[in-house]
Amino acid sequence: RQLHSTQFLTSAQLYKQCPPDEGREVAFAGRSNAGKSSALNRLCSQKTLARTSKTPGRTQLLNFFDVAEDRRLVDLPGYGYAKVGAQTRQQWQKELDGYLSQRQSLAGLILLMDVRHPLKDFDHMLLDWGAKAEMPLHVLLTKADKLSYGAAKTTLMNVRKALKDHPGPLSLQLFSSTSGLGLEEAWDLIGQWLEL
Ligand code: GDP
Repeated sequence: RQLHSTQFLTSAQLYKQCPPDEGREVAFAGRSNAGKSSALNRLCSQKTLARTSKTPGRTQLLNFFDVAEDRRLVDLPGYGYAKVGAQTRQQWQKELDGYLSQRQSLAGLILLMDVRHPLKDFDHMLLDWGAKAEMPLHVLLTKADKLSYGAAKTTLMNVRKALKDHPGPLSLQLFSSTSGLGLEEAWDLIGQWLEL
């Protein structure tokens, strides 16, 4: 299942600039370079969908994409590339907290981690938040094509083990934007969350 009509909706620098909190949305989060833009593009079968989030100076924005009426995917900012000061970073953290804690239409959070570098501080921060908020979380272990299938499976098992005490709804899978591995599985879940 793919949606070909996905369209860039809007960017928000501040929580209060987000589009109306109606319907349902699924947010994508990950450290810089986790493969988030590639995943969003592949999931929506568009090459340039998430490019906006790569434009220098726009990296700290929430980017909203319409996939159907009142159904949205949200590209949350990563950390790393953006050479911003501590103050900007702190301000940004506040806006992300605001979004995550107040957004009623947020149905679930997709956390993307490079299969070769899982469970860094940023990932734990989001996992902890998800646990507190009882928000359904789905982990994509990205760039699975960079490892042998066996090695990728082993990582999946290890990460699953590491997260076995996570209190809220949590699922995990391997994913590759390059090979298409896990595409269907990811879309099935997103479709459920969005009630498409
Ligand atoms: P973002 O910063 O999280 O948005 O990451 P990008 O989507 O821009 O990807 C970061 C880098 O990893 C780019 O060079 C991509 O080409 C590469 N990449 C992303 N997904 C995959 C994947 O599934 N397989 C491989 N081999 N490389 C990938």
